[in-house]
Amino acid sequence: MTTSPTPTPTAVVFDLGKVLLEFDYGIVARRLAAHSGRDAEQIRVLLDQSPLLFRFESGQMTNDEFFREVSSLTDYTGALEEFADIFGDIFEPIAPMIELHAQLRASGVPTFIFSNTNGLAIRHIRANFPFFAGFTDYIYSHEAGAMKPDARIYEVVERRTGRCGAELLYIDDRLENVEAGAARGWRVVHHQTPEQTIAAVRAAGLL
Ligand SMILES: [Mg+2]
Repeated sequence: MTTSPTPTPTAVVFDLGKVLLEFDYGIVARRLAAHSGRDAEQIRVLLDQSPLLFRFESGQMTNDEFFREVSSLTDYTGALEEFADIFGDIFEPIAPMIELHAQLRASGVPTFIFSNTNGLAIRHIRANFPFFAGFTDYIYSHEAGAMKPDARIYEVVERRTGRCGAELLYIDDRLENVEAGAARGWRVVHHQTPEQTIAAVRAAGLL
């Protein structure tokens, strides 16, 4: 009796936050607090995984509407451009994962960004992190109108990559997100450390 070998995936789908870029809403909270009447912890709670951020990242608010709502809730008095700089400047590169991406691209593997995110963050990331220009395509929650782990945004990934099931190798740090991918037959890596993820990508036959 023979078993057929597991096929090698033909594309890699990367989550962004805490996979390729570390982020900390505590930074933006402290900087906004310096320009408002609120303390940093109140502002962090307003932003980090909040209903307001969900509305912004699921495409229900424009950049300007989000700015006006945060300004009104925090008594922030700065202009949109200053706010955008502060709001976007929360990211730090995760070097071994950016190197992993570079190696995949050098090997000719198509790569995709798949992120719950917003227009202000993406504008900042594009302007500040050159590696970000190197992906084949980008699937963003605020453009798709749905957030991971909602099945609708996984369907967008399948359409945009032209792939499904085990053709896709998907890396994400949030368990509910990888579980939603696994439920569709995608190969998944629950990202915890760069070392483990790089080993898993090699084990999948890539690199
Ligand atoms: Mg993440």
